[in-house]
Amino acid sequence: MKTWNELENECKSCTKCDLYKTRTNVVFGIGKKDSKVLFIGEGPGENEDLKGEPFVGRAGKLLDDMLKIIGLSRYTNIYIANIVKCRPPKNRDPNNIERDACINWLHEQISIMKPKIIVCLGRIAATTLIDEDFKVTRDQGKWFDINGIKYMALYHPAMLLRDPHKKPETFVSLKILQKEIENI
Ligand code: SF4
Repeated sequence: MKTWNELENECKSCTKCDLYKTRTNVVFGIGKKDSKVLFIGEGPGENEDLKGEPFVGRAGKLLDDMLKIIGLSRYTNIYIANIVKCRPPKNRDPNNIERDACINWLHEQISIMKPKIIVCLGRIAATTLIDEDFKVTRDQGKWFDINGIKYMALYHPAMLLRDPHKKPETFVSLKILQKEIENI
């Protein structure tokens, strides 16, 4: 198996889909590589592409604030990655060709990390990793056991910025997540 650094270096020169043509940086991920908890978003936006880091800007700040409530931080005890590592132009959803081309990088990250819990942030991550029929409004905060890993989805922080009324149910889900983390 590749080492983490080998995987990251290989990924950073990837040209497997057309998104490489317009990217500034490949956004491989950030955090503690031996963490038991992995958060997955959909793909880099403009700020993330420029900085080479997932979840920066307003949505990133909200995510960090949400994580802090339950004692988590990208700097100490979790890892954060995305379904696609390069920015889709104009922040559109990554299409199926791009998702299929990129997903193996994430699977390889998961193989090395061996997380116990994966938290999908938003619809794209949840429908890719949990169930193609996943509905975030219906299924966020529920646990799904897949191949020995516990999966949960939360609203994407950008959605919570657009619709703050979804914050209370997200807070309940965060507490459910916190309880599970305490048991691993
Ligand atoms: S999005 Fe993924 S598959 Fe496409 S070029 Fe970037 S790293 Fe490669």
